[in-house]
Amino acid sequence: MYCEDAPADEIEHIRPKDLYPEVVFAWENYLYACGPCNGPKNNRFSIISRGKIVDVTRPRGGPMVPPRKGQPALINPREEDPLDFFMLDLLNTFEFVIISKPGSREYDRAEHTLKVLRLNERDYLKAARRTSFESYISLLQRHGDEVAAGNLAAAHRIRQTVCESNHATVWAEMKRQRKAIGALGALFDRAPDALAWPVPGK
Ligand SMILES: [Zn+2]
Repeated sequence: MYCEDAPADEIEHIRPKDLYPEVVFAWENYLYACGPCNGPKNNRFSIISRGKIVDVTRPRGGPMVPPRKGQPALINPREEDPLDFFMLDLLNTFEFVIISKPGSREYDRAEHTLKVLRLNERDYLKAARRTSFESYISLLQRHGDEVAAGNLAAAHRIRQTVCESNHATVWAEMKRQRKAIGALGALFDRAPDALAWPVPGK
């Protein structure tokens, strides 16, 4: 989760352990995450209180008191679809662009999430999204070629490769933006069943 790039071999507690001990063992508070995502987020936590994002992180050595109540500021991918908040720029930067209206709570939460998880700041993530995009395009083209040539086993292997790739969000965005980006529209028109391929999480 979060960056979709690296092996997610750590258990991230969405609500930090030292603020919300009551959900330390709650399944819905767990997320698989990689070290570079989990590390900086760690025990940082912010809530929305009276329309503003308030940092409720417990300071080192601070008293063990319940945090102020409020909706978490960080987008929770177990309960919310991040693509309702963001669009991935497939044409140029491969950064996430916030689609909510500036000044709205959704905008503030999206901005906060980008900042905490450094989803636009890590250059290697942007490069990996670009590589995934190019790879998905090649795979779709080859899939179309194999189907046209009657090589259905080969076509099926290509479908498997897509379904097991990282960066499922890149794939989801290719589907979502296919009408706006002509070349993508043509690719999916040639392989309409690809729209329903079971890409994990998307
Ligand atoms: Zn990560």
